[in-house]
Amino acid sequence: MAAGGKEGRAAAEPEAAVVEEPRSFKDLGVTDVLCEACDQLGWKMPTKIQVEAIPVALQGRDIIGLAETGSGKTGAFALPILQALLETPQRLFALVLTPTRELAFQISEQFEALGSSIGVHSTVIVGGIDTMSQSLALAKKPHVIIATPGRLVDHLENTKGFNLRALKFLVMDEADRILNMDFETEVDKILKVIPRDRKTFLFSATMTKKVQKLQRAALKNPVKCAVSSKYQTVEKLQQYYIFIPSKFKDSYLVYILNELAGNSFMIFCSTCNNTQRTALLLRNLGFTAIPLHGQMSQNKRLGSLNKFKAKARSILLATDVASRGLDIPHVDVVINFDIPTHSKDYIHRVGRTARAGRSGKSITFVTQYDVELFQRIEHLIGKKLPAFPMQEEEVMMLTERVAEAQRLARMELREQGEKKRSRNDDDDTEEAIGVRNKVAGGKKKKRKAF
Ligand code: AMP
Repeated sequence: MAAGGKEGRAAAEPEAAVVEEPRSFKDLGVTDVLCEACDQLGWKMPTKIQVEAIPVALQGRDIIGLAETGSGKTGAFALPILQALLETPQRLFALVLTPTRELAFQISEQFEALGSSIGVHSTVIVGGIDTMSQSLALAKKPHVIIATPGRLVDHLENTKGFNLRALKFLVMDEADRILNMDFETEVDKILKVIPRDRKTFLFSATMTKKVQKLQRAALKNPVKCAVSSKYQTVEKLQQYYIFIPSKFKDSYLVYILNELAGNSFMIFCSTCNNTQRTALLLRNLGFTAIPLHGQMSQNKRLGSLNKFKAKARSILLATDVASRGLDIPHVDVVINFDIPTHSKDYIHRVGRTARAGRSGKSITFVTQYDVELFQRIEHLIGKKLPAFPMQEEEVMMLTERVAEAQRLARMELREQGEKKRSRNDDDDTEEAIGVRNKVAGGKKKKRKAF
């Protein structure tokens, strides 16, 4: 893989970082005040990715980090940035780009936790939030900005006095997604207005091998830090599939939720509409289900996530907006209700369970239309999955009740759609909680919804 880019950077195969046994943060070269901050967070020892990446980053090298959320990757890039900031204090010092709003808040929490004792100010710039309050936050020139690309470009173009000409660090979190076509225009605009002379860190659980894609990040002679280099799913994850006729998907879902009752579930659907519909269907059957998708306002998305995290709801139904990076330790079962179209998304989705040494299950629904996609997934993970054991007759006994719940869900969905059209609001039955920023309701920009 060549690492040079159109900006004339060196083209070379990234060196691999030397893997060593975990040591203390101090041994890695982390300064005392940041070691104390880690200690206060209960981080006794650095994680593998931190052992690999921190010393290399402290030497001033660019990094390609292969690690997923849960591995401690945020600390792996945040600590070197904070240390560099301590050495040469400067406003608008680092920019972290991330594909989803939820991830941006999650990363910001870690910057705040590690950096608060040294007076570091960070701000989150994402869509769905009032631009005016963001402009005010940017006017105060925070040290670190954590942003989704689209909204950052809005501010670069429209917020007077805001620029990133002095930036020293660029991080792309979930880099293979940031670098793909979805964000092409935005990322190109951002790269044009930040200095070439900067440090760049790419972190992702899966990383593209496409040279052109990586070239866009314009890395300088990067070091590759990999916790696992092959696409892997963890050992404590039991992965199953079920092969079923498409028209009985809902009944099979209800059967599995009953069979595995007492667990907490993340159920992935392919569209916002199906996510909402399935959530309504399950609620009609008495399950505590809550949706998370891109057609909900940001306060409702955060509200859903917080309720699920706080275990007030046991089932989170989501589109791929939630497949990457979210750190929710207690997910027991991931259900791929709609099979992912991109095999890599399978790795991200099932990665929401069996985290931090816990065990977990994943069950992928395969209908007559999904066989080829499923085979691609098996090929990617390099194994054949077993079928989840089921009693078909028991599933069939559910069909009548499920049909009634489906009918109600369709009606509710239609009503919600009408309400939305008349009020231009996306009202559903869950009120929002836990919003950190003021949320603007009306102004909506047409962006890709997940
Ligand atoms: P991340 O992979 O960055 O999303 O981090 C996942 C979780 O691991 C977060 O809750 C961090 O607070 C936590 N974490 C990060 N580094 C360490 C460490 N060295 N020791 C213990 N926990 C950590």
